[in-house]
Amino acid sequence: MSAPRVDVELLKKYSVPGPRYTSYPSAPVFSQEFRPDDYLAEIRDTNREGEDSPISVYAHLPYCDTLCYFCGCTMKVTNDATQITAYNQYLKKEIAAIAKMVSPSRKVSQLHWGGGTPSYLDAADILDLGGFLKSSFTYADDIEAGVEIDPRGLTKDRMEAFRESGFNRTSMGVQDFDPAVQKAVNRIQSEKITRDAVEWSREMGFTSVNIDLIYGLPNQTLAGFERTVERVIDLSPDRLAVFNYAHVPWLKPHQKVLDEMSLPAAGEKLEIFRMTLEKLAGAGYENVGMDHFAKPDDELALARRNGSLYRNFQGYSTKAGCDLYAFGMSAISFLGGVYHQNKKTVREYFEKIDAGLVPTHAGYRMSRDDVIRRDVIMKIMCDNEVMKGDIEERYGISFDGYFAAALPKLGAFTADGLIELKGDRIVITPEGRLIVRNIAMCFDPYLESLGKDKQVFSKTV
Ligand code: SF4
Repeated sequence: MSAPRVDVELLKKYSVPGPRYTSYPSAPVFSQEFRPDDYLAEIRDTNREGEDSPISVYAHLPYCDTLCYFCGCTMKVTNDATQITAYNQYLKKEIAAIAKMVSPSRKVSQLHWGGGTPSYLDAADILDLGGFLKSSFTYADDIEAGVEIDPRGLTKDRMEAFRESGFNRTSMGVQDFDPAVQKAVNRIQSEKITRDAVEWSREMGFTSVNIDLIYGLPNQTLAGFERTVERVIDLSPDRLAVFNYAHVPWLKPHQKVLDEMSLPAAGEKLEIFRMTLEKLAGAGYENVGMDHFAKPDDELALARRNGSLYRNFQGYSTKAGCDLYAFGMSAISFLGGVYHQNKKTVREYFEKIDAGLVPTHAGYRMSRDDVIRRDVIMKIMCDNEVMKGDIEERYGISFDGYFAAALPKLGAFTADGLIELKGDRIVITPEGRLIVRNIAMCFDPYLESLGKDKQVFSKTV
């Protein structure tokens, strides 16, 4: 397996702020005018009698033991275990209120717990919440159930509790094994505890292990990160996610703690990225989509090859088209054509649940234009190819006429060898896949009104 050619100077040109397209439209477009009743109406509409399409379920568990200074998640540090138990009780109330509206013939084909740190829950809390979810929904026999774990503080009884709750996949952050980087970002995590977490996952029958790395962190060097990548390859995870560090202190004020002078310069950061691509390709990993790699026999890699890859708030998935029910503070659901986001602080989330209300923060009902553009952006992000004829047939439009404003923007990508126009196909080349967000941005008319200058988004590379 060969890595795509990486032209560092070219990538620098495309390093601009842009959405990650885990949704389209992206979350900043959602409106706070959206009412809880609109969400409830959509739940009713998508659960008519006899409805049996599969669903996805996500639970957001925001608590962490300590703060990693690079963190971009919606999380909260606590050393008070009673807060975590209390949060679970609120989560269960929200789940109970919504689950009773979901058609019982709909099975959960995808389950995910993210955070924060789900493995910061003790075994009793994991079993309590896991058991409650299991009794509130019907799980499919072939459910894909993933949980984000932190090797720091992980215990075997927590892992066993996850297995007992139906989980069959683990995902863990490593970021970088280099001690100088770990010290700078306040995340000390030895290789030994990471190896234990991987081994426990395998011993206990989790069928897939994912490891996250981040490039662009303070004190990071090409040589240091190369050693990390080699050690991670030695752990042989089934999947890897390699993220570009998003330095957005105006959105995440705790990142101000990081000394900007210690961040690798743009050129070195892209060299680190290039080295990582080459090492992973050399070890047999396939690049399945933006930031994500998998062994060739992994379901994600298979889905990428047979055109069934899908993208949602958890990244890439093989479960296309499922309605997503998301629970917990800040969690975003997606049903039919509606996005719904919960209150973004624990306090506001608790207040709404205490009042017996839907904890709506914002939402969005997609227009027909959004649906068409979402389809095109999904094809770019997942298949790296758009068949104009398919889109024309599905929506009764002339592709070139409908996207008359977008298509001229593709010219620069074509000239740089990042896109090829082949008959009625727009094909993204292996090099173009490295800046796939930029290509998708050509079809996103909201970016102008959101203003790229407002720095709402992290950089694309
Ligand atoms: S453990 Fe994860 S969610 Fe918690 S602070 Fe660190 S990166 Fe953020």
